[in-house]
Amino acid sequence: MIRLENVSFTYADDEFPAVDNVTLTIDEGSFVVLIGHNGSGKSTLAKLLNALLIPTEGDVWVEGMNTKEEEYTWEIRKNVGMVFQNPDNQLVATVVEEEVAFGPENLGVAPAEIEMRITEALEQVGMSAFRKRPPHMLSGGQKQRIAIAGVLAMQPKMIVLDESTAMLDPQGRKEVIETIEGLTEKGMTILLITHFMEEATFADRVLVMDNGKLVMDAPPVEIFSRVEELRDYQMEIPQVIELAHELRKHGIAISDDILEREELVSELCPLL
Ligand code: ADP
Ligand code: MG
Repeated sequence: MIRLENVSFTYADDEFPAVDNVTLTIDEGSFVVLIGHNGSGKSTLAKLLNALLIPTEGDVWVEGMNTKEEEYTWEIRKNVGMVFQNPDNQLVATVVEEEVAFGPENLGVAPAEIEMRITEALEQVGMSAFRKRPPHMLSGGQKQRIAIAGVLAMQPKMIVLDESTAMLDPQGRKEVIETIEGLTEKGMTILLITHFMEEATFADRVLVMDNGKLVMDAPPVEIFSRVEELRDYQMEIPQVIELAHELRKHGIAISDDILEREELVSELCPLL
């Protein structure tokens, strides 16, 4: 679906590349989580995926289309939908259904087809009951689900969410993550950029960026077992992972694939 080959990007007045020689493929239908400290190049990488930015070195292909070739820009943007951090900056309409219709209208989709897409997209994010409501009255989590519905209505092949849970309360975050999980189960390709490492637990693959470089690329169980390395990249380690790691270091027999609290509890109880 996505292929990056030796991709670098340097902003006009910057000395160092924001993305530095990244080579990477993303398979259709996979759920990939990208983590990394502030300024590590995550958003820049995201923008390279849908031709919002063009590499200063190397190539990005989306379904075989090189983002450098302007004739493909439209098709690439349609294929790779983006959801950003602040729900309030993304919503433009006064009624939810208009919001969801906005993308397909711009693509020139016929009205009857748009109707169907609105119904389907709102269903997929669990927001059908809010169709006639004004978006500004919704909670943060609900707003992000509407933003996701707006992207779904354009029928993309992939969705990139750039810290789309960062401004939400725990309930909103849970709603959005559950929505994303629902989409991945239906075969949607997802790249989730997040500050919350816990959100990587259900990923097929976790990528870690540091100073523009892709420094780790492995399944979550493996990533989470490399605690010292994650600390070097200034990542905050989830409590459960950290506790399991410290216990292991002290010679207590905890298996090395613990990702969730319940798993740790069930291993600890017999030991106690
Ligand atoms: P992240 O999303 O991981 O926080 P970014 O991709 O936003 O990282 O930023 C990577 C680097 O590029 C940082 O050093 C940042 O200061 C720089 N950068 C980001 N956007 C711009 C811009 N529009 N102009 C110049 N430098 C930028
Ligand atoms: Mg960012």
